[in-house]
Amino acid sequence: MAEDTIAAIATAIGESGINIIRLSGSSAIDILDKIFVPTKGKSIRDYPVRRLTHGRIRDPQTKKDIDEVLAVYMKAPYTYTAEDVAEIDCHGGIVPTRKILELTLRYGARMAEPGEFTKRAFLNGRIDLAQAEAVIDLIRAKTDKGFDVAFHQLEGNLSNRVKTIRDQILDLVAHIAVSIDFPDEDIEEITYQEIEEQAQDIHQKITKLLDTADTGRIIREGIHTVIIGKPNVGKSSLLNALLRESRAIVTEVPGTTRDVIEEFVNIRGIPLKIVDTAGIRETEDQVEKLGVQRSKELFNKADLIIFVINASEPLSEEDWEIIELISEKQAIVLLNKTDLPMKIEEEEIRKVIPGKKIIKTSLVEGIGLEALEDAIAEMIYGGAVQQNETFLVTNTRHKHALEKAKESIGDAIHAVQAGMPFDLIEIDVKDTWEYLGEITGDTASEDIINAIFANFCLGK
Ligand code: GDP
Repeated sequence: MAEDTIAAIATAIGESGINIIRLSGSSAIDILDKIFVPTKGKSIRDYPVRRLTHGRIRDPQTKKDIDEVLAVYMKAPYTYTAEDVAEIDCHGGIVPTRKILELTLRYGARMAEPGEFTKRAFLNGRIDLAQAEAVIDLIRAKTDKGFDVAFHQLEGNLSNRVKTIRDQILDLVAHIAVSIDFPDEDIEEITYQEIEEQAQDIHQKITKLLDTADTGRIIREGIHTVIIGKPNVGKSSLLNALLRESRAIVTEVPGTTRDVIEEFVNIRGIPLKIVDTAGIRETEDQVEKLGVQRSKELFNKADLIIFVINASEPLSEEDWEIIELISEKQAIVLLNKTDLPMKIEEEEIRKVIPGKKIIKTSLVEGIGLEALEDAIAEMIYGGAVQQNETFLVTNTRHKHALEKAKESIGDAIHAVQAGMPFDLIEIDVKDTWEYLGEITGDTASEDIINAIFANFCLGK
């Protein structure tokens, strides 16, 4: 354990009950010992490991007490980082937290980089790369579902599946290699048919993982949703109803103005990311103000469009323009204000955009929201993926690795079918193994690893 010792504030800083300062590395316990004075007893080392101990943080130079705290230490390798770890629970608030952090730095720690604790857990082999990525997904999960999927990934659900396939590939490579290296010896040579059977099986398993990726991405990142429609049709009423129904999370992207406020609405575990851009809420005449061109741009970025029509008025030219625009997109049409006499035939719209869901709503009476949620859930979970499935490939990086792996094993199958020499087939099979290893980090480059952890928050 020659590693230097890192320190960071592990909790969000601000007014809070407590804050936690965390240290990891070979001097973590020494540093804690220098600045922590237990209420009873001389040194933190006199206390058993993992025992939360009451005391004070005291500046050794000025002998001044800085805060009343609880402190604990844990010994490698049974810690988050698999290194020696010390933690200090101090009072919440910026002043004590900063002062204590500064003291740890003065006595030999250095500021941790974002994600460095988790990176160490990975580098020390306690978790693999997919598990490390699950940690940040847990923190950022927008819905229970997203959290569940990330939690299972942290538990090794994805890693184990990938590992099983990689082991199978390794067996196949070994078998092929023996047939290449010792063709004359009395070893049973693998046949083309055997290779193909194995390769097809591997191909199928990778495909099965990949089939979950689109749903997985949406569960992790949210589905980019745009609500569109003429003025006064009920767009704000819809947004407000959705916000009321689900526990919405509003995230303000730091450093930007209000035009990028994202509202996450939780529909059956699917986070709908409704980007309140030019402001459904504020701009009365959305389509007019944005213009058809700008609306098109919005459409192109969206995963889902909810088009609201006032069904108590005849369809206008504008409505028809929008209907044409959405014909190529994932879209749901709401015929709103159905509590009033209807002036629109569902059929005339259906003729132009067959296959699109058309739902009758009365947002003032709260009718039709259930059907809207059903439609969204069906759209996302439809097909192969079950709604209660906790295994999903959620990460685009994993998806790309699986795609490359699938291509390589596909190449191997073609090579077999073309009767190519074994050593050429072996290359494709080995590539498949390599690509899958990027997911768990066995074969990921340092650049990729650094980029992943750079996205973490400080102190994790
Ligand atoms: P937006 O301009 O598209 O955002 O429309 P709003 O949500 O602001 O709604 C415009 C007006 O229509 C408001 O007075 C709403 O109360 C009303 N409204 C919305 N939904 C319904 C509905 O289902 N039925 C009726 N009768 N009025 C509605």
